[in-house]
Amino acid sequence: MTAPDWTAIRADFPTLQRQVHGKPLVYLDTANTSQKPRAVVEAMDAYYSQYTANVSRAVHTLGAEATEAYESARTKLAGLLKVRADELVLCSGTTFAINLVAYSYLLPKLQPDDVILVSRMEHHANIVPWQLMAERTGAKVEVIEILQDGTIDMDAFAAQLRPQVKLVAVAHVSNVLGTINPVREMAKLSRKHGIPMLVDGSQAVPHMPVDISSIGCDFYVFTGHKMLGPTGTGALWAKAAHLEAMPPFIGGGEMIKSVSFESTTFNRAPYKFEAGTPNIAGFIGLAAAVDYLQAISLDAIATRERELLEYATQQLQTIDGLRIFGDAADKASVISFAIDGTHAHDLATMLDIEGIAVRSGQHCAHPLLQFYGISATCRASLAFYNTEAEVDALVTGLRKVRTLLA
Ligand code: PMP
Repeated sequence: MTAPDWTAIRADFPTLQRQVHGKPLVYLDTANTSQKPRAVVEAMDAYYSQYTANVSRAVHTLGAEATEAYESARTKLAGLLKVRADELVLCSGTTFAINLVAYSYLLPKLQPDDVILVSRMEHHANIVPWQLMAERTGAKVEVIEILQDGTIDMDAFAAQLRPQVKLVAVAHVSNVLGTINPVREMAKLSRKHGIPMLVDGSQAVPHMPVDISSIGCDFYVFTGHKMLGPTGTGALWAKAAHLEAMPPFIGGGEMIKSVSFESTTFNRAPYKFEAGTPNIAGFIGLAAAVDYLQAISLDAIATRERELLEYATQQLQTIDGLRIFGDAADKASVISFAIDGTHAHDLATMLDIEGIAVRSGQHCAHPLLQFYGISATCRASLAFYNTEAEVDALVTGLRKVRTLLA
């Protein structure tokens, strides 16, 4: 197979063509949110300019067109992730999806002294909802520890699995370290103990082929805006049996079969979890994003991003006093680093003057930064639309800033 034309692909992203402070934009913050190709913006524009209508309510032509385009997001996501479309609940993103599992699936089951296992490297979205459930029930959140290289301590994890554990919640890929966690192995171990597992795939789905059905987990969540799609889109995948058994989370229109003041009967899953008018334009954009990713292929994307990661890691290591956090063998293209004697926010602010966008701070992962004993890092996260020249610009920028700040 011939390699994709990465230069032509980059030209599909309007924002990447702009300048910041008179310099060409170098966007290295994809782990925060990805840039959007023109095809996504055009799909949303077509909905708003040619067939604006609500979904599932109207029999008229526009309503049918909108419903078909909106539902195509579900079928396309199902195709991408190798799951059944009716096992995908469309929602506003990972945060909502995790809260849905917390309130609808876990809360009714939790007893005092039950345990929810959460890894040290989780995003706050995969910590705080579990803490809220623990506070309500007297259950507790227990940490799955990591090793210095930023990988899960698998021996410790195996030893933590016991009957009190009611859920394991773990990221597929860390948004800070880039570590690709052994979720299949973790799901296998959890299953042996009859413990369900939730995988946060926010940072995985856009960067590698993900076959959810082969992981063996119970819940898989992800967010659309990190996979070239619009903000306010995402999904929960759950086994049909879980979705059937789970009560609705948010009540309202569209999620019911019939309503009277005496009683309400609910629609079947996944619709019983989708109350109210959804982000129609957003999901139409997300359907276009899935088409776009698949036209390139997630295999090709993963290969290209691995090349960029290796190049960037080598180049960054040539900078004196620069420390990279996490060096797992299995890693996605996210690099968190600190430079001796400088603050991450100062680095990021001065890089911005050079047109270079990196994230600085705690990346919604306070417990992970506490583990490394630091208060902030700079994070450069690369996507297939980045180039080696942009990595060079980062390194040059960092050298300049380091000289100024030292
Ligand atoms: N989990 C991970 C690993 C993330 O990187 C993010 C976004 N930074 C989230 C959860 C939260 O996603 P959202 O804000 O789209 O709900």
